[in-house]
Amino acid sequence: MHVLVIGGGISGLAAAHQLLASGARVTLAEADTRLGGKLRVGSIAGTAAVDLGAESMLARRPEAVELARAVGLGEQLQPPSVAGGAIWTRGAVRPMPKGHLMGVPGDPSAVSGVLSPEGLARISEDGRLPRTELGADVAVGSYVAERLGREVVDRLVEPLLGGVYAGDAYRISMRAAVPQLYEAARGERSLLAAVRAVQDRAAATPAPAGPVFMGIEGGVGRLPQAVADACAAKGADIRLNTPVRELRRTTSDGEPGWLAVTDSEVLRADAVVLATPAPAAARLLAPHAPAAATALDAVEYASMALVTLAFRRSEADRVPDGSGFLVPPVDGRAIKAATFSAHKWSWAAEQDPSLFVLRTSLGRYGEEHLLQRDDAELVELSLRDLRAATGLDARPVDTLVSRWDSGLPQYPVGHLERVAAVRAATDALPGLAVAGAVYGGVGIPACVADGRRAARQVLQAAASAESVNENGEKTRHE
Ligand SMILES: Cc1cc2nc3c(=O)[nH]c(=O)nc-3n(C[C@H](O)[C@H](O)[C@H](O)COP(=O)(O)OP(=O)(O)OC[C@H]3O[C@@H](n4cnc5c(N)ncnc54)[C@H](O)[C@@H]3O)c2cc1C
Repeated sequence: MHVLVIGGGISGLAAAHQLLASGARVTLAEADTRLGGKLRVGSIAGTAAVDLGAESMLARRPEAVELARAVGLGEQLQPPSVAGGAIWTRGAVRPMPKGHLMGVPGDPSAVSGVLSPEGLARISEDGRLPRTELGADVAVGSYVAERLGREVVDRLVEPLLGGVYAGDAYRISMRAAVPQLYEAARGERSLLAAVRAVQDRAAATPAPAGPVFMGIEGGVGRLPQAVADACAAKGADIRLNTPVRELRRTTSDGEPGWLAVTDSEVLRADAVVLATPAPAAARLLAPHAPAAATALDAVEYASMALVTLAFRRSEADRVPDGSGFLVPPVDGRAIKAATFSAHKWSWAAEQDPSLFVLRTSLGRYGEEHLLQRDDAELVELSLRDLRAATGLDARPVDTLVSRWDSGLPQYPVGHLERVAAVRAATDALPGLAVAGAVYGGVGIPACVADGRRAARQVLQAAASAESVNENGEKTRHE
């Protein structure tokens, strides 16, 4: 069986890896001149490696670390050197409160300091308020604001959700983004009680061993090439600079399959895993599954920029301990987060001890205007905010701006129904499965899981279409 994987981000690469493990022949077509999509490594100040996109993998979900181990990066997996983040709000960089669920506390005292006294007092009204109906889905921000007050949303939920989706808490789906809270909130009148119920359940379940997050020495952005190398070693044909422009169904050779039109040739495959972002998937699916294309066309994305700054270590002593901080949008700063890479990752500190590398991120859903500024301005805005937050007033020895236009798909209220509509329409197409950040979660482990799921889907469809009759002859069931 020959499967064409379209898209060489981590979802498509994970699909290719799974397909090859199951004995399929794989061609992977990637539009760009490099693999990896949102995973990318670069270098700053000469030779220091830096992640220019994603930099950390949730390790409590096994898929991403499993894949890294399977492709020979097990020894290079590295947990963050420092635990716990911080939040820059109300004029100070404050330790990130503990005992919350995506910023929603189970006990008001957990978030004192980050909230004003009025904001803290408002939380207690939760116990007296009548029940808030959740309906089929609800925006995290509006539900939490109604129960606990806007300050919890604006100073805690918004920056934490923003760190994952670069989104707007008042639009993001609670069912999609914090499903365990949605389920618990359906059974409780009080949101504080719902959070405590989730926390009690978690406390009663033995915590999985090992770190919550993992990086990779030299950058998480090394993962795609390692997966590609493992795939190539098993015979995969990996083609860069090969955008697929059109998909056609075919029954040439007497077998049903797909033709993929690229700029230079037409590739034939028995099955396709479509692992591109929503706009490309919508265009390729439009002739075959118009309902899926319409649903995908409606997916919105947030754009962002990462500003990586290398300082002389001797001049960066004002940078506080810890891995960095989040910034609530309500505080009106340009940056939405700072990651002190040289504190967070020991590999980043050790590769050039004379350097201190950190990065800021700018841009959320609806803030595209901020990203109209040129690179030099984004650097200056980052330096201005870093100075205000930490007192760091050194000039960097090198800077690097990485722009991620349409970097993160948004998961607004109704997103799960939209994904279900896409899956229903594409499930009806024989030998085609979709995968990627738009469907089952934006994080790397979720993308790996979705790529693998799509691989299994096309393999199972092929297995059930082809069975062996009692005479040992292969039969196809159309
Ligand atoms: C700046 C940033 C930081 C992030 N940080 C983290 C993090 O720290 N941890 C985490 O878990 N997640 C993080 N994420 C999210 C995560 O990195 C992404 O959701 C994930 O990498 C998406 O993978 P993907 O394969 O689904 O899509 P992509 O990475 O977008 O890959 C899709 C690929 O398809 C290709 N393509 C598009 N059209 C075609 C076509 N017609 N033909 C062929 N190829 C095509 C594209 O060129 C691309 O390479 C971050 C995202 C961004 C933007």
